[in-house]
Amino acid sequence: MEFGRTEEQRLIAETVREFAEAEIRPHVRAWDEQQSFPDELLRKMGALGFMGVMVPEQYGGAGFGARELATVIEELARVDPSVALAVAAHNGLCVGHLLIAANEDQKRRLLPKLATAEWIGAWGLTEPLAGSDAAGTQTRAVWDEGRSRWILNGAKTFNTNGARADVAVLMAMTDPDKGSKGISTFFIERGTPGFRVGRKEDKLGMRASDTVELVLEDCAVPAGNLVGERNQGFVDALKVLDRGRISIGALSVGIAQGALEAALDYSCERHQFKKPIASFEAIRNKLARMSAELRAARLMVTQAATLRQLGMPFKKSASMAKLYASEIGMRAAEEAVQIHGGYGYVKDYPVEKLFRDAKLCTIGEGTSEIQRLVISRLLLASI
Ligand SMILES: Cc1cc2nc3c(=O)[nH]c(=O)nc-3n(C[C@H](O)[C@H](O)[C@H](O)COP(=O)(O)OP(=O)(O)OC[C@H]3O[C@@H](n4cnc5c(N)ncnc54)[C@H](O)[C@@H]3O)c2cc1C
Repeated sequence: MEFGRTEEQRLIAETVREFAEAEIRPHVRAWDEQQSFPDELLRKMGALGFMGVMVPEQYGGAGFGARELATVIEELARVDPSVALAVAAHNGLCVGHLLIAANEDQKRRLLPKLATAEWIGAWGLTEPLAGSDAAGTQTRAVWDEGRSRWILNGAKTFNTNGARADVAVLMAMTDPDKGSKGISTFFIERGTPGFRVGRKEDKLGMRASDTVELVLEDCAVPAGNLVGERNQGFVDALKVLDRGRISIGALSVGIAQGALEAALDYSCERHQFKKPIASFEAIRNKLARMSAELRAARLMVTQAATLRQLGMPFKKSASMAKLYASEIGMRAAEEAVQIHGGYGYVKDYPVEKLFRDAKLCTIGEGTSEIQRLVISRLLLASI
């Protein structure tokens, strides 16, 4: 069990691990092939509190903190990173944005449904021309004074959970002349006229987690759908991403843990030259490195989550944890494939999927290059 976990965190980890082994493990391959998993799984996780980990109890959530959210995501990712990604996007991005910026009415209206997974949430910042440079948002929201409503037009790409979302929290330009200071946030419910799901991405990995385009065509929403202050959307989105990076770090740690366990099992089971391959020094070196890097990444994620939980500055720690954990997660998955030899390259063993899934973590919620940019900016600003 993990260093520094409280009794309660150990219990949460155990509960999630048991759930993942029983309810997810048997279906991982089928869901990857089907590019989907049942809504029912999300409802079951909602009943256990996994979908509203940081939502205060007064809104129907579990009322835990960043450490517990990281624990839930890590344990899910150890078994199926796609499910972990769906849970991370719901908790960390959609719900996370509402927790930061929504007013009391919006919280009362949306959080109880999201915390129990009666509703599933998506979050859209990225657009075709606005990826790492998210301030380049082209989606427009224009205030219709006569009818007191916002009219939205545009498209958000790469929305995790977008196909099944009951509500999406989306960023749109409200004052184009002001650049990043002219972006605002809106929540849009499924079924709102002019709001539809567009193209579904056919991905390398994380295939069971849906990633879709969300299209807005003269989509009218009342003033009450503006989340946070007008023109504060970009600032709030950056705060959401700082927090979300801890989740992607935890997801990466879960992948590295899953890869190490699979590699350990296989290296003891597989014999060549009349010996288990675990007896060869080259294999032992790989296992040792995977294990040491995994521990370092987990400590970095734990530190970032702890700083956040204590209300201390955590931006640099979150970026460092995401950068390091995602890169060692990828390396661990690759080494696990290598240790499996040809069997690592086929779908009979879990490492082939972990390898495909791991790559997303060096890209989503800020690429590795962007994390280095954030870290170096903060370093230089402190001189
Ligand atoms: C499976 C999946 C799920 C996702 N889920 C969501 C979601 O739910 N919501 C959402 O809003 N987005 C989501 N995304 C989008 C994701 O956050 C973006 O893909 C990511 O931020 C990178 O943007 P981009 O793809 O446009 O790449 P680009 O920004 O075009 O980057 C291309 C390359 O250029 C590099 N680069 C760009 N700018 C710089 C720079 N200044 N310095 C150095 N290098 C640079 C990048 O690091 C990268 O290597 C998801 C993406 C995927 C693949």
